[in-house]
Amino acid sequence: MRRRVAFVSGGAKGIGEAIVRKLAACGFSVAVGYNTSASRAESLALELQRGGVNAIATELDVSDPRSIEKAANSAKKYFGFVDTLVCNAGISLVKPFSDCSVEEINRVIAVNLTGTMLLCKEFAGDMTSEGFGRIVNVSSCWGVRGASCEVAYSASKAGVIGFTKSLNAELARSGVLVNAVAPGFINTDMNAHLTAEEVAAFTDGVSVNRVGQPSEVADLVEFLTRENLYVAGETISVDGGLL
Ligand code: NAD
Repeated sequence: MRRRVAFVSGGAKGIGEAIVRKLAACGFSVAVGYNTSASRAESLALELQRGGVNAIATELDVSDPRSIEKAANSAKKYFGFVDTLVCNAGISLVKPFSDCSVEEINRVIAVNLTGTMLLCKEFAGDMTSEGFGRIVNVSSCWGVRGASCEVAYSASKAGVIGFTKSLNAELARSGVLVNAVAPGFINTDMNAHLTAEEVAAFTDGVSVNRVGQPSEVADLVEFLTRENLYVAGETISVDGGLL
């Protein structure tokens, strides 16, 4: 069996933390990329190490190419070959499009789309050389459908879908499969600002009539990292069946 090593961006909390925990439970060594949650990332890595998992926490700002290179190099130095990359880091931007500043629009594209592309660029070379790799990008249901008052965010996540298909087309024959997940409403800090009424209004439009949990996204991500995988270039929804 292949020794598996994953790098997860935004891995200290929310969906990223659930992905780290799931992959660790499935036998992966894991690099937890964190931006501002240093102590959470360090204690997560420590907890995993105590449970016998080879894990490190590494600082990462996906909007800064030098930070991406530094984080990738530290993971490669520590683990050797990193065969699995999960591009989960992301930020939201919720306001009417006409009220968004150029700086806000550029920021959401820089983190969600350019950050995802640059992180993939940093790891994909080694994967193609080794003839094996799994990349999972975290898009959004709004990247699939579009959303009012989340126009730039939705555009960034739609870009992730197009990027995923294209990168897969370029790399799959080298054994590197690239897929994306499109979560719906997941119970994390990203939605913490919403009132109970706003959450209820949203779940009215979900066929299973509830919000999702980070672990439910992590289960799908883990599936897409499997060695035997006949899914490539896809974006799979994990949204409880948006109506
Ligand atoms: P979250 O706010 O808890 O996590 C976002 C993570 O991204 C954090 O760990 C944060 O530190 C990291 N991050 C932000 N900017 C960064 C940067 N510049 N460099 C590196 N890391 C950075 O929210 P979450 O819900 O766990 O979000 C995870 C991913 O899931 C995001 O890409 C988000 O767009 C996507 N998503 C979330 C939902 C939802 O309902 N929660 C739905 C669809 C998609």
